[in-house]
Amino acid sequence: MIEPTNSAYEALLKQYEEYKKLGLKLDMSRGKPDKDQLSLSAGFLTALTDDADTVCGGLDCRNYGAPDGIPGIKGLFGALLGLPTENMFIGGGSSLEMMFDTVARHMLFGAQPGMTPWGKQSKLKFLCPCPGYDRHFAICEAFGIEMLPIAMNADGPDMDAVEKAVKDPAVKGIWCVPKYSNPTGITFSDGVVRRFASLAPAAEDFRIFWDNAYAIHDLYNEGDELLNLYEELEKTGKTDMAYIFSSFSKVTYAGGSVSMMASGIANMAYAKKIIGIQLICTDKINQLRHLRYFKNAEGVRAQMKKHAQILRPKFEAVLKIFDEELDGIGTYTRPKGGYFISLDLPEGTAKRTYELAKEAGVTLTKVGATFPYGTDPDDKNLRIAPSFPPVEELKTAAEVLCVCAKLAYVERELRR
Ligand code: PMP
Repeated sequence: MIEPTNSAYEALLKQYEEYKKLGLKLDMSRGKPDKDQLSLSAGFLTALTDDADTVCGGLDCRNYGAPDGIPGIKGLFGALLGLPTENMFIGGGSSLEMMFDTVARHMLFGAQPGMTPWGKQSKLKFLCPCPGYDRHFAICEAFGIEMLPIAMNADGPDMDAVEKAVKDPAVKGIWCVPKYSNPTGITFSDGVVRRFASLAPAAEDFRIFWDNAYAIHDLYNEGDELLNLYEELEKTGKTDMAYIFSSFSKVTYAGGSVSMMASGIANMAYAKKIIGIQLICTDKINQLRHLRYFKNAEGVRAQMKKHAQILRPKFEAVLKIFDEELDGIGTYTRPKGGYFISLDLPEGTAKRTYELAKEAGVTLTKVGATFPYGTDPDDKNLRIAPSFPPVEELKTAAEVLCVCAKLAYVERELRR
């Protein structure tokens, strides 16, 4: 670990000033696919060229009909995620929209017919494992749902804390990114998934929001294995306790793909009834293009291997620089998939690191974004998103970040 001396400070400051002179403009803030990843799906644009191609299994995809999605796409998600296709809804280009809408339906109409809408109950709370996904937290904030932080461990959320918290009937839900979690990159262990399936919340309208956004997003041939929550819920007879979400946003086009929601029979019947008032059907032409392009689950998996070839060197480049340059400042995850690395710096230095990096032209995800209400109580977590910048830029950005982190640490120590 670096010695926090005046001379160390001077040396770091000099290095930092040199970087500033370069006039960098680098962005490691959002987990967007890069251009080469998007180009992997070029064939998808021409997957439907003929008017006659638009009929699938007797269904004319140009017309209204199949309000919950075309069977082929349901089958694709079913095969990839191990889900029954009966209790599934295929949505438009964003699973986040379906999560927002699901919370909105619960607020307005209740979890199931006859249940009091969340919006008419006096107190609403959600459990938020953190660091977590800022946009989940933003949904709670928008609806005025109080967020309770839950510690995130290497094998998933602190389940002792979850089991205790759900004894409060005001607790209505929990956000989970169970595989290659955003931002820690960890995958929930079998034990954690089983404990979720056995959860006994006081509120009958408590729901697990299982956002399996990175279900098939392995960086290596040997990826993490996530136990199938739906199958575990079948064993405990609680399939209606969870909504499972996913999308092809990071398979084909971000925001321009297809999304999926699945849950128990009763939940989905109610959801489909309400959604049926909201819309007549979603974009089946886009669903069909995905189906024609991929053909089957193997086609999707082959595409994911190509994504991995692009992403893997980026993750490895950042981690190598962290290994070599951070000098023991902080700890970080080494995810086997997903889009993020989570970096924990010495307490009270993340914000300063962020500011220093910003001044040197390196944009990071705002400190606190990974926590409810945008506040990291320890001011230590940074979410690193290596996917978008080219490798060379990424290396520079990671080097700058290391200098900033060390500088922030030495500054703090010298002030003590
Ligand atoms: N969930 C998680 C955990 C994510 O990281 C993202 C994208 N950053 C999304 C959902 C958004 O998915 P979509 O594009 O399907 O709305």
